[in-house]
Amino acid sequence: LILEEDEMINFVSSAQEQTALSQAEVQKQSIQEVRRSLPVFPYREDLLLAIQQHQILVIEGETGSGKTTQIPQFLMESGYNDGGMKIGCTQPRRVAAMSVAARVAQEVGVKLGNEVGYSIRFEDCTSERTVLKYMTDGMLLREFLTEPDLASYSVVIIDEAHERTLHTDILFGLIKDIARFRPDLKVLVASATLDTERFSCFFDDAPVFRIPGRRFPVDIFYTKAPEADYLEAYCLVFLTGQEEIETCCELLQERCRRLGSKISELLVLPIYANLPSDMQAKIFSPTPPGSRKVVVATNIAETSLTIDGIIYVIDPGFCKQKSYNARTGMESLIVTPCSRASANQRAGRAGRVAAGKCFRLYTAWAFKHEMEESTVPEIQRTNLGNVVLLLKSLGINDLIHFDFMDPPPHETLVLALEQLYALGALNHLGELTKLGRRMAELPVDPMLSKMILASEQYKCSEEVLTIAAMLSVNNSIFYRPKDKVVHADNARQNFVVPGGDHMVLLNVYTQWLESGYSTQWCYENFIQFRSMKRARDVREQLEGLMDRIEVEVCSSGGDIVPIRKAVTAGYFYHTARLSKGGYKTVKHQQTVYVHPNSSLFEEQPRWLIYHELVFTTKEFMRQVIEIDSSWLLEVAPHYYKNKELEDSSSKKMPRKQGKAKEELG
Ligand code: ADP
Ligand code: MG
Repeated sequence: LILEEDEMINFVSSAQEQTALSQAEVQKQSIQEVRRSLPVFPYREDLLLAIQQHQILVIEGETGSGKTTQIPQFLMESGYNDGGMKIGCTQPRRVAAMSVAARVAQEVGVKLGNEVGYSIRFEDCTSERTVLKYMTDGMLLREFLTEPDLASYSVVIIDEAHERTLHTDILFGLIKDIARFRPDLKVLVASATLDTERFSCFFDDAPVFRIPGRRFPVDIFYTKAPEADYLEAYCLVFLTGQEEIETCCELLQERCRRLGSKISELLVLPIYANLPSDMQAKIFSPTPPGSRKVVVATNIAETSLTIDGIIYVIDPGFCKQKSYNARTGMESLIVTPCSRASANQRAGRAGRVAAGKCFRLYTAWAFKHEMEESTVPEIQRTNLGNVVLLLKSLGINDLIHFDFMDPPPHETLVLALEQLYALGALNHLGELTKLGRRMAELPVDPMLSKMILASEQYKCSEEVLTIAAMLSVNNSIFYRPKDKVVHADNARQNFVVPGGDHMVLLNVYTQWLESGYSTQWCYENFIQFRSMKRARDVREQLEGLMDRIEVEVCSSGGDIVPIRKAVTAGYFYHTARLSKGGYKTVKHQQTVYVHPNSSLFEEQPRWLIYHELVFTTKEFMRQVIEIDSSWLLEVAPHYYKNKELEDSSSKKMPRKQGKAKEELG
């Protein structure tokens, strides 16, 4: 769908008329009127009655019908929060939790964080007064650690259940269990119109309450041939991640600039998980008369967020998915075709306010034959280390017989147990060790947790906490605008220090700290201020937890060996050794490559530990650190044998970086 300029002008101007109209309407209505206009509104009394009569209720309703924003308010209005009891509502995505909480606080007329708040990892926007709490499913899961029967909740809503995230699936099992001995607890399982029978069946035939949706027809168009470059095509556009979205937004803006006054103003707005919240809020702000809005989104806009006034949807048919190899234990993110269920959800977004159109940038044949019916639940394609550690801390020892809606593959479960054993979190009987208990206290993955705890022994927790925080903000530290690539790359090069990317991150943070956390400093050094601010928040929270797990925070005083040893103690699973043409992982001999952005890309040290693997054109290791193979025996003697770590060759391999850089494009 590559449009000529004239075509595009026609195409967008008709969109403009329609959006302008609905926008004007929306502005006229007061918040209460908007609330009353939502499909769920006429069912308020029936719904409350059903909730009163049943302990567990499955609620099915088209996206945008008001499940997430309205139902908790109905509950508040009818006193479910009496006596300081809380209503909790889980969301699989942090962005959704924040944005929905903000909206509801506004509707209720309270300040966000007071009666209505949200809680996501490393960010708690609630207070003593909070009675309605939106949170990520992972956060509610962690609440079981401090309150195993969720005694402070009168209602728990597991929202977006159809997403079947790992944490939501685990919540199903735990909540079903506690509901048995907490007859006063109400459980609502809310889902878009997918799979509700299965939820009902899992919850012992709980009744399903259906909210009839209002949907306008959506015409669906396919391409005649597969689209090679979907970023070129053109407004809700579904892309797979931050990088693609940024590229697409730049492209759109560039085109608009070239068209100049030939078209009216086009607001190009991105939305993805790591987008700062003030930018997120923009997608909901009214479009000024005479202008149009294009929202470029990941699948977050599929069901979690409803943006009013969308008439056109462009669906390239891909999403980024975690995939897990249960044999090797390797996890990576891969761009894959989305499922038919996702594609239909995406198309549905075009028909909320008026008849719409959905342009699918793939063939009808591909839709029928190449896409899966529905997305495989996350529990079947991810590393389970994190939840296994959590369940063990909750005293659930028999994981094989845990009440899973869809059980994870047996080997994945076994591998998770093995990994936790290797990390020292479990003993040979599979019981939680003291170390394991302390690891579970930190809201991070077991390997990161272990790294932090190991920093105690190596007396470098100051540095390791910083590294952990910087790793948590996930590849958004360096700013690289297209028009200043050379400057940005030079600035980045200036941060390079020996040891590897972890040390570079530490260096960036330390310099920023010395600048007095300056915005100007970030600007001058092509560092993203927001990401740094977030890293600082994360660091503060982690440091706060050190007290609880009795780790003394001290510095290695410039010695980088202990720091790298602590990283090794957590990530020894992720060791790769230089071999012909690239690296090979030590245990499984899988070929992997240093990411061209890495500070060690040219250096090619013999032994590396990587933070994560990302599959683009091939398996790239992102964030790598150079280690000495003897450290592996020191930190994981039960995992590595001397023999495995012998060097087969003594000289360094020839470099091959030029090619890899090209392939990455
Ligand atoms: P559901 O959960 O059934 O998909 P929601 O409760 O999320 O539906 O949405 C109901 C309405 O609230 C939609 O019209 C949506 O546009 C609006 N809404 C939700 N979040 C926001 C927000 N942050 N700002 C403005 N409107 C919002
Ligand atoms: Mg919702």
